Amino acid sequence: MPAADFNMNEIHWLMDMFNTVDIGLVVLDRDYKVCIWNGFMENHSGMLPSAVKDKDLFDLFPSIDEKWFRSKSESVFILKNRSFTIWEQQPYIFRFKNYRPITGKADHMYQNATFIPLSNTMGEVGHICIIIYDVTDVAVNKKELEEVNRKLEQVSRTDALTQLANRGHWENTLRQEFLRIKRSAGCSTLLMFDIDHFKKVNDEYGHRCGDEALRNIADLLRKTLRETDIAGRYGGEEFAVTLLDTDRQGAEIFAERLRSLVENSSIYFDGQQIKMTVSIGFACFQTHFERYEKWIEAADKALYFSKENGRNCVTAYQDLNES
Ligand code: GH3
Ligand code: MG
Ligand code: MG
Repeated sequence: MPAADFNMNEIHWLMDMFNTVDIGLVVLDRDYKVCIWNGFMENHSGMLPSAVKDKDLFDLFPSIDEKWFRSKSESVFILKNRSFTIWEQQPYIFRFKNYRPITGKADHMYQNATFIPLSNTMGEVGHICIIIYDVTDVAVNKKELEEVNRKLEQVSRTDALTQLANRGHWENTLRQEFLRIKRSAGCSTLLMFDIDHFKKVNDEYGHRCGDEALRNIADLLRKTLRETDIAGRYGGEEFAVTLLDTDRQGAEIFAERLRSLVENSSIYFDGQQIKMTVSIGFACFQTHFERYEKWIEAADKALYFSKENGRNCVTAYQDLNES
């Protein structure tokens, strides 16, 4: 625009817009000293342009990661290219409080930023402009959505009554373990157990009592588990546990501990003591199992044998003739 056409009103308007616009505008010189600071920056930082002018940016905002900020800016100075940051990589550049009522859950403002080179009439870049966008609404919504999805996924994998893995999820984890162990030729053991005469608990004390009993068995099971074991509710009153890197001896100790823990505990329902036992079967992984379902069948056969053999006992699939 020729100087003569340059209307003082226009400068005035530009300054008004510059100070009112809802984005942050900061100009820095080559030494990272503040040259320009608009109304947005003033309002959110509480610092007047006169208070920041010619001050070192990193002295004003010690929370800025100086090394990162300098390397980002240097490429803008040197290459004369624009550069961007998004809140997912760096939640903010300037730590400003979040005052928005709808997104009150975030205590700070999330920011995207653009760094642009500012050249003089000679085409030299001696300054850069940082444009700050408040993206708190977007960030908080996205985070909330992720959290809801995470919870939904958790719910879809969990048995509501016992809080153990549900059958679908447990079978998925078994399939993964089956594939892993087939490659690594290690030993893991699959254990299944079923509450003895559980129908009687329901018949004598009611379904609610039966539910309480199932929760109690799940709690006892959780007490027996190691971090790496994966326990699931396989069916009504039948449970399954994948014991990772556990051989026959280890599985036997686990099974016996679980069996006796159940036998020696009771639940109280409407003032009545109820005792239960479980029948257990387990199968160590064998290379001839061509699918994970075969592994389940083997553990199930051992469990069936425990039932036939008087209940409240443990059977290893290896001890059955067919294994
Ligand atoms: P066994 O010793 O041969 O295993 O006998 P059982 O009575 O335990 O076996 P059966 O399969 O005859 O009965 C299982 C019972 O488990 C029947 C069913 O009503 C009950 N059951 C299954 N799921 C639930 C549940 O979620 N809550 C309650 N309360 N009962 C359940
Ligand atoms: Mg049963
Ligand atoms: Mg059953």
